[in-house]
Amino acid sequence: MIVSVRSCIILGSGPAGLTAALYAARANLKPLVIEGNEPGGQLTLTTLVENFPGFPEGIMGPDLMNNMRQQAARFGAEYVPGNAVSCDLSSRPFRVTTERGETYEAHSLIVATGASAKLLGLPNERALVGRGVSTCATCDGFFFRDRKVVVVGGGDSAMEEALFLTKFASSVTVVHRRDQLRASKVMQERAFANPKIDFIWNTVVVDVLGAEEGKVTGVRLRDVVTGQERDFPCDGLFVAIGHTPNTQIFQGQLEMDPQGYIKAYDRTRTSVPGVFVAGDVQDYLYRQAITAAASGCMAAIDCEKWLIEQGLAT
Ligand code: NAP
Repeated sequence: MIVSVRSCIILGSGPAGLTAALYAARANLKPLVIEGNEPGGQLTLTTLVENFPGFPEGIMGPDLMNNMRQQAARFGAEYVPGNAVSCDLSSRPFRVTTERGETYEAHSLIVATGASAKLLGLPNERALVGRGVSTCATCDGFFFRDRKVVVVGGGDSAMEEALFLTKFASSVTVVHRRDQLRASKVMQERAFANPKIDFIWNTVVVDVLGAEEGKVTGVRLRDVVTGQERDFPCDGLFVAIGHTPNTQIFQGQLEMDPQGYIKAYDRTRTSVPGVFVAGDVQDYLYRQAITAAASGCMAAIDCEKWLIEQGLAT
């Protein structure tokens, strides 16, 4: 059943989606935000956010997202909980169906569904997120001043995280499951040249230690060649094994790169006119709350302009 026809639907409620909602609402587009299963996005998984301008003492991630949500609501943004499970961009208006079975129609869409950092899937890992387990060195590195940290992964993200962490940590140990890195040569060279970084090869993390203490005290490592296990004391575990952009429902409809990130043209336009994109779902490089928020603002402005050009603005 179609319950509503809108000028603009925003998919996602992280900094990109909620900033798009704020700008779209203030442009009188009465946006409907389909929040997704993690309302507030990745920031709700972090604790203190110290790099979002305007909060000299920092702000808790969930509080920041709640503020953004309320701010957009004040100007008329509406929210629908849960995920969009399908999206039909083949005819107009576009149709979005949620997991509750409700279908919404809109002349324009802003896709801000984000990307999810992959975790290792270990028993204690999720419970210790924010207590030593992190997927974002830029967000959490500061808390590891003079601490010993482990980074898992062998790609560009892992090298970037490791290099960033050397600004704070006393030592950074990269644990990689093979004997060769996947990262680009330039990133590899930088990491190899950094005296604070060392590598443990052919090794996987099989457990995170510290559940009883409520904070990470170490990791259990397994050598994949010998099968031998040992405990490695550390204060932090940074998991940098890649992100998955949340673009499954747009497969075959919007142009994407081979990793599934939506391709943006002319800033926030996608391959389908009337569909705009913002935040981490199109950005594997910066991945910051502030850059996501900025692109959400841009998408809403581009969207409003497009609706006016098409004579579809209310
Ligand atoms: P990635 O290139 O896919 O690398 C993921 C790494 O994690 C690989 O080394 C992989 O090991 C390892 N890994 C995956 N699953 C694992 C598991 N379950 N257990 C242990 N290790 C696991 O991802 P990324 O580093 O996030 O980069 C994604 C894309 O963004 C790439 O195209 C990258 O070049 C780009 N990027 C660029 C920059 C930059 O240019 N500055 C920065 C960040 C990212 P294997 O090697 O064995 O597969």
